[in-house]
Order: sequence, then structure tokens, then C-alpha cells
Amino acid sequence: MSELKYPFLELGTVNAPYKEALKAAAARVIDSGRYVGGAENEAFECELAAHTGTRYAVGVSNGLDALRLIFKAYIGLGRLREGDAVIVPANTYIASVLAVTDAGLRPVFAEPCSATLNLDTSRLEEVYTPDVKAVLTVHLYGRACYDTVLDDFARRHELIVVEDNAQAIGAEACGFGRTGSLGHAAAFSFYPTKNVGAVGDAGAVTTSDKELADTVRALANYGSDRRYHNIYQGYNCRLDPIQASFLRIKLAYIDAETAHRRSIAAVYNSEIRNSAITLQQTDTPDTSVWHQYVVRTANRDSFCRMLADNGVGYDIHYAVPPHRQPCYARYAHLSLPVTDMLAAEVVSLPVSQCTSTDDAREIAMIINRFQQ
Ligand SMILES: *Cc1c(COP(=O)(O)O)cnc(C)c1O
Repeated sequence: MSELKYPFLELGTVNAPYKEALKAAAARVIDSGRYVGGAENEAFECELAAHTGTRYAVGVSNGLDALRLIFKAYIGLGRLREGDAVIVPANTYIASVLAVTDAGLRPVFAEPCSATLNLDTSRLEEVYTPDVKAVLTVHLYGRACYDTVLDDFARRHELIVVEDNAQAIGAEACGFGRTGSLGHAAAFSFYPTKNVGAVGDAGAVTTSDKELADTVRALANYGSDRRYHNIYQGYNCRLDPIQASFLRIKLAYIDAETAHRRSIAAVYNSEIRNSAITLQQTDTPDTSVWHQYVVRTANRDSFCRMLADNGVGYDIHYAVPPHRQPCYARYAHLSLPVTDMLAAEVVSLPVSQCTSTDDAREIAMIINRFQQ
């Protein structure tokens, strides 16, 4: 997409300001002689916990593993049992659902709200049954998905609340605090395209529950709580210290990067004026960190063609919801009309460091000329 006037996302451009610092960090790790765990991991975990507002952070291999380890840890601790049901938004990246099914738990798909594009918390009670023991809230597109309705619902039914915070580091749920600290445990992804992107795969779990943090850490390290002592049949899902050293650099600048994303989103919010285009609703400027800037249009094919003809990069998150993927054919019979409608209508516009506010103004003008 690099020939486009307004590229959707170019990772080389995103990392260009950090290039020298990243190289120095890699050299530091290489020179240290410590290539698994160690000081970089410990420092990054402290910095991430402080940024999130939790007592603990555990660096892990990627975002999917962070989610898997959380659910397996709850099972290991006897707080969830295989076969328990977990409410998940039906319009999410498939990793959210893979973590649930991989742990032997049963996903209960809940519909999103067509205005916020996040879980419709007013409809949670519709999908509740006594088998439901947890809810996985996904802060989709960087928008914090946590409100009094969800909070009351989880308390009333004594549910474990897990956050999929892969897309929303630094977002604030009005009155509840930062994503990653809202529920009982949260999963982060530092996949290169995420707001804090590693130079490869990386992830983390945050929680203020010491037992859970210790269990996640043990599970990620062969299930061992100390050397050659295995309390669980675990995995190798540790955070690579080279990635930890990179993430420490990127995390230090996340608030400035988020401010940039918000300035782009503010231009789109105020300047896109087209009855064929619906914008995502947010509560306050702090609600979203705009991992994606997503609009809806009933005539997506012609809208995307128009964008491409005008040099505007775009992407679609996500065209096929998890329950319509071949691997989940067993859920294909479910009726989730809002999810299907969103999958058919969403388009993501450029909102990264590759886009300036002037670019955003020009893109808004291009969009305003679109006729269905
Ligand atoms: C990226 C992402 C994940 C998975 O993270 P990886 O690091 O790619 O494994 C999970 N959930 C959501 C919502 C994501 O966007």
C-alpha cells in the first residue's frame, strides 16, 4: 500500500523515531548474556503495571497466550471449570474466542451495539444462564468497554471479568479507570501493529490478584513455581527479553502516541459529514485510544473503491466474525444480526503515526464527496 498518498499503516514509519534506541536496547541485551527472563523483563513488568494501575504484570509470548494463560490459570486455581460458559462479544478478533475454547470453556456470543461497536451491555442479561461464570470484555478498536451495567451484571452473578486489552492500552472507562485494571485480569498484545508494538510477538497479563499473577507466571514457564518443581502441566510462553527491552522504549512514549491518534480521530469526528457514513460513538475523549478509526457504510464495496481511487489506504476489521469461521462451524447456526451487519459495513481509516492531522482533513474531504 506504500504507493498510496495516505497509507493505512507502515511499520517502518511507526518505528523510525525509535530506531536508534531500539538498536541500542538490542545491543544491551546481547551484551548482557542473559537471553531468557532477567532485568529487562522485570523492569518492563513494573513499568506496565504502573502504567495500567495494577499490582502485577507478567510478560508473556503474545496476546493470544496472555488470554489462554488467564483462563488456564483460573482453571488451575479451581475458580473456573472446564465446560463453564464465558460471555464473549461476537464481533471480536478470533483470538478472544480461541482462548476460551482452547481452555475447554464454552463461548456464549453476545451482540455488539451498532453505535459503540463494542459489547451491548444492555443485552448481557439476555445471554446469561447459570453456566456463565465469566465475561470477556474486549475493548475493541481501542474503545474502553466497561460501564455500570456491565459492572452490576458481573457483581450480581459473581462473574470473573477478563479484559481483552490487546487494542486499548491507555484507554479510560468513565468512572472506572484504565483498561487493564477494570476487571480481575487483562491480556495485552504487543503485536507490531498494536498501539504499543514490539518488533515481533509479545504480550502481557495484568492483574492485582497475586495468586493469579503467580499462576500465570508458573504456567508460562512449564508450570514451574521454582526450578525443577512443576505444579502445573504448563507451557513455554515467556516474554523474550529483547522484546521487553524494545517495549520499555515504546511504552515510555505511549501517551504521546495516543495523543496523536486522538488528534486524528478528533479531525475525523468533526469533519466527516456524510449521511452514508456512520461514525463510532465514544463517551469522552479519554474513552478511546483509537487503535482503529472505524466507520460504517451500507455500500462498503463502492466506498472502498472510492478510497483506493483517491489514494486512501483502508482495512476491514473484521469481515468474517468468529462464529462464521470454518473452525467454528458448530456456531454457524447462531443468529447474531448486529454482528453480521457490522461485519458487512465496517471500514478502518488511517489513524496511526503515518497520518498527520492535515492528511486527516484531506481524507475527511474525500469521504464527504462520497455518494452511494
Ligand atoms: C491482536 C489481538 C489479539 C491477539 O494478540 P496476538 O499478540 O496477536 O496474539 C487478541 N485480541 C484482540 C482483540 C486483538 O486485537
